[in-house]
Amino acid sequence: MSTPISFSSKSDPRDLRFVVIGAGMAGVLTGIRLREAAHEDWVIYEKGDRVGGTWRENTYPGLTCDVPSHIYCYSFEPNPGWSRRFSPGAEIREYFEGVSRKCGVLPRIQFNEEVTRLEFADGRWRIELKSGRRDEADVVIAATGVLHHPRYPDIEGLDSFEGARFHSSRWDHSVPLDDRRVGVIGTGSTAVQITGALVPRVAKFSLFQRTAQWIAPQENPAYSEEEKAELRRDPEALRNLHESLALDFHERFSNGLIDANSPQMKALEEICRNHLETAVRDPVLRERLRPTYRAACKRLIISGEFYPAIQQPNAELVTEPIERIEPGGVRTRDGRLHELDVLVLATGFRVDRFLRPIEVIGREGITLEQAWAERPNAYLSISIPRFPNLFMLNGPNGPVGNFSLITIAEMQLHYILQLVAEIRAGRAREISASESAMARFSTEFDAAAKNTIWASGCRSWYLDSRGVPAVWPFTYQRFADEMAKPKLDAYELRP
Ligand code: NAP
Repeated sequence: MSTPISFSSKSDPRDLRFVVIGAGMAGVLTGIRLREAAHEDWVIYEKGDRVGGTWRENTYPGLTCDVPSHIYCYSFEPNPGWSRRFSPGAEIREYFEGVSRKCGVLPRIQFNEEVTRLEFADGRWRIELKSGRRDEADVVIAATGVLHHPRYPDIEGLDSFEGARFHSSRWDHSVPLDDRRVGVIGTGSTAVQITGALVPRVAKFSLFQRTAQWIAPQENPAYSEEEKAELRRDPEALRNLHESLALDFHERFSNGLIDANSPQMKALEEICRNHLETAVRDPVLRERLRPTYRAACKRLIISGEFYPAIQQPNAELVTEPIERIEPGGVRTRDGRLHELDVLVLATGFRVDRFLRPIEVIGREGITLEQAWAERPNAYLSISIPRFPNLFMLNGPNGPVGNFSLITIAEMQLHYILQLVAEIRAGRAREISASESAMARFSTEFDAAAKNTIWASGCRSWYLDSRGVPAVWPFTYQRFADEMAKPKLDAYELRP
């Protein structure tokens, strides 16, 4: 899938400088691949103080990845030591840090360096950082992530709350939780994981649900020492495990998502319905937890802990709408005050930001704000017309809801480095998607998006400002085929 692009450095006509933005999963991967491709001149700027991206920022209790660990890792760096089928967040962060060290990327990361401005001038990118530093690059690779700008709810009185209050991705670990009254707003994947972890610890747990969620069951067994030792001894078994999980995930699950009427979606709905029927005893609570839309229309939630937790005597599901927040807690529309010591906003992320708030200025002065005035858009999620030599990993229109983000980034980088090879070989100095290719892609994308499960009628972060799912609406194979080799006629190549 992602054979490194190799060059004989002596015959390379151009030595290129690369700036990579972000040292999360995709940025570290970029560093690894740039090294493999014998690129010498590159740096990764990271605004945080350590590697890990979303796994650095999110530290909430109960944080795990609901993608199986043996596919939630680089294909070239399988990990026989995963503790569980779905491993905790801290372990995943340590994995990325370990790989970045092992593969020689860590020394190339400049931490606490936030890129604030990119301007394309005279065939190069001029880069400004918050620290006042300046840099230049021939190629910028944005590995800036998708889910990292917290979305704060617009609820009256939010600032008046006198207890501790924070967004789920900015967890304040100095705040005691044990035996206290904790409220969580939201019922996304984050809130569901927090619920499972906090109910056993706190005196009173209140979950403020605006929309009920379908929840697929999940078992999360630990790998025994013998199993881990066996995987260490047998690299082929480890590879096979990765491949069989990937096949299952991508071919069966992902390809079902793009057709709302697919047998996979019907089967999934049945699984979620059975889970609700069998795991929630109280018929009244069961109905309050029952969604009114199709399973997987919103990002599917996978949890074996949520239903048991929300049925505990110290847990309460609040479905009455929130009226306002007061110094003592949350007032619901029925006039009741839910008194709280801690209020967690598990209210999700501003997913339309991508590179922003970085100010990006492309060819002839066009700004990213102008290019994306209607909505973020990118050809194959990688390149934006008139922003040459700027490539995104997990940019707009990508398969964020379908495949493992790591698999996606590996494929995208393989593709990007082939475009870079054109520049390095001197066949072009500037490459960006052509306007016509972008328009063709958008038309086809929008038509296909209508058939997906995400368009079947729900509110979700997958929908763009027009209400169209901004998620790759084609098959896994199509993505793999597109990423295998760039079609250069979709690009504007300038000498
Ligand atoms: P989310 O899925 O966007 O959920 C946000 C929740 O907050 C929703 O329940 C939403 O209600 C609610 N909400 C927002 N504003 C509100 C308001 N003003 N009043 C009341 N409720 C409000 O966010 P998330 O749970 O942080 O998850 C985001 C994404 O992160 C996931 O979809 C997933 O892709 C990723 N994630 C992955 C994992 C993993 O294990 N791999 C774990 C956590 C997160 P509505 O539904 O009514 O809008």
